[in-house]
Amino acid sequence: MKLETPNPEIPFYQACDDEIAVFEHAWKNRLPLLIKGPTGCGKTRFIAHMAARLNLPLYTVACHDDLTAADLVGRHLIGDGQTVWCDGPLTRAVREGGICYLDEVVEARKDTTVVLHPLADDRRILPIDRTGELLEAPASFMLVVSYNPGYQNLLKGMKPSTRQRFVSLRFDFPTPEREQAILISESGCSEDVARRLVGIAQALRTLKDQDLEEAASTRLLVYAATLMREGMDPVVACRASIVESLTDDPEVADALMEVVSATF
Ligand code: ADP
Repeated sequence: MKLETPNPEIPFYQACDDEIAVFEHAWKNRLPLLIKGPTGCGKTRFIAHMAARLNLPLYTVACHDDLTAADLVGRHLIGDGQTVWCDGPLTRAVREGGICYLDEVVEARKDTTVVLHPLADDRRILPIDRTGELLEAPASFMLVVSYNPGYQNLLKGMKPSTRQRFVSLRFDFPTPEREQAILISESGCSEDVARRLVGIAQALRTLKDQDLEEAASTRLLVYAATLMREGMDPVVACRASIVESLTDDPEVADALMEVVSATF
């Protein structure tokens, strides 16, 4: 299969649909983007690829429930008896006209994400209360957020008023052919190994919802392929990188290992 990115400066990204065109149009039209999809399916890689492709600085923030607005916007720091203002990643991205990517945005509290609102609608401004500044985002600035709908609970879902400020893309695991191309490109494994690993993932993904909280991700397959390329026994590699990452339950692990043993 043809690789998407021959340019070594741009992180490899195997497109799965029309996501590159949607991203480019959203960016050109100054619209923020929301990406939803399971863990390890290529969301972060996609943003890194697009930032490099558009030649924009990228600031990534992994959100969690202790994240504060100051972590995003900035704070005064004390050093050498002086107080110095230090921009947070959101402010830096706005000043430089880059991309600010908030991963797992639903993990952040509402009083933190409220700073995103005036940036996400057509005002495109960032008020910095502590310095009295009001930054207007340059045309090239883009806000991108992602979340995994599988992790969501009712309390944590995004408010409709927030969601409706974003252009939204749904990501899922790639088709078998594309996933094989990703494994070969990422790990340098053979076509045969890639085909077998993707076969295992397909079989394990059908078990999702019954025994497993999360489906086997492309990321885990890349790990397995990488260990095997170094000469590790395929069954040992699949246990360590796929099976033990998916479950703590020894019985479920045994059941998953049966799929592995039937393949290698
Ligand atoms: P997410 O952000 O969705 O949790 P990542 O973007 O970090 O997932 O993807 C995990 C890994 O899987 C990447 O580092 C890369 O090796 C591989 N990967 C997944 N999807 C793709 C893709 N479409 N193109 C290239 N690599 C991919």
